[in-house]
Amino acid sequence: MSGYKRVLLKLSGEALMGDDAYGINRATIEAMVQDIAEVVNSGVQLAMVIGGGNIFRGVAGGAVGMDRATADYMGMLATVMNSLALGDAMKNAGLNPRVMSAIAIDQVVESYVRPKALQYLEEGKSVIFAGGTGNPFFTTDTAAALRAAEIGAEVMLKATKVDGIYTADPAKDPTAERYARISFDDAIAQRLQVMDATAFALCREQKMPIRVFSIFKPGALMRVVQGEDEGTDVFV
Ligand code: UDP
Repeated sequence: MSGYKRVLLKLSGEALMGDDAYGINRATIEAMVQDIAEVVNSGVQLAMVIGGGNIFRGVAGGAVGMDRATADYMGMLATVMNSLALGDAMKNAGLNPRVMSAIAIDQVVESYVRPKALQYLEEGKSVIFAGGTGNPFFTTDTAAALRAAEIGAEVMLKATKVDGIYTADPAKDPTAERYARISFDDAIAQRLQVMDATAFALCREQKMPIRVFSIFKPGALMRVVQGEDEGTDVFV
């Protein structure tokens, strides 16, 4: 299979933590950006969504006891912080990223406007979609699925700690095997948790394939983008 031309990469906020318990680990983000730079410099149009779980989640930790919508807005603001950090690290690596927020915060980053995002991608600039969907009660997985569909990405790349979807939890079961490919229907039938249900349903409806892979495996992102056997391909 030949490579992709336009992809959406979803990174969880926790991917930025490294071995820290909280926040953004400099060495981790720089290592990640090296892999991202390789892909962008190969001419692939890259859009990204980053979560906020390393800073704040609307349903856990400091959010317990809070009004849910208020807590979710805090979570969305956390994604803006991560997006700024990622954009900054990409700039240091010689790339040309643009951060666009679903929540108007124009003194900090420009607001998301779809034609503008498409223009940036055409110009070879990477786009980081911050602020999730801009709505409480959603997740950044759903924001990623939504933006992937909006920009006509060929695939949604879901970066996780594990290098794909397994028959069982590989950390607990040594006989667990990785699926190279699995259909949406089989993933549902086997109750495999690929991403949150809303995001998964949107991708399925839009016939948007999902590739689950490990961002911590050096070169994995490039192999995924080149269409090689890496991670798990979830297809319609
Ligand atoms: N969030 C939200 N709406 C969105 C996206 C995110 O309310 O469209 C909030 C929600 O509180 C969530 C937090 O932002 O817990 C961080 O996002 P997420 O949990 O998806 O981050 P990740 O797990 O990928 O780090």
